[in-house]
Amino acid sequence: MILNPTTKPPEVKVNSGHIHEYVRSSKNKDIYRCVHPDCSHYHNREYLENKRALCGKCKESFILTKAQLKNKVPACLSCSKSNKAKKVKRIEQVLDQILNSSQKYDEKLRWDKNV
Ligand SMILES: [Zn+2]
Ligand SMILES: [Zn+2]
Repeated sequence: MILNPTTKPPEVKVNSGHIHEYVRSSKNKDIYRCVHPDCSHYHNREYLENKRALCGKCKESFILTKAQLKNKVPACLSCSKSNKAKKVKRIEQVLDQILNSSQKYDEKLRWDKNV
């Protein structure tokens, strides 16, 4: 098939219809590829900084940052924030448990002394 140089190849047309959603290549840490089924786009991560992409979690578009390009699946700020918030909550729960058990221990000590 001879392509007319004035018409765009079909894959470019498909590509223009979506924002790339990136995942890191398992073979090369510096390469991120788009997961869209009709898209074979991939790029070196140093060229992806400050580019628009789809969040791997909420599927909203966001601007890729250097920090996000260290993750296997780059996620938007609010998704990575909520991840952190979840972690903080878990730590708080553990702290609560420790505090509760030490309080009980104190009570037990006091009880033992009184008896
Ligand atoms: Zn794509
Ligand atoms: Zn998100």
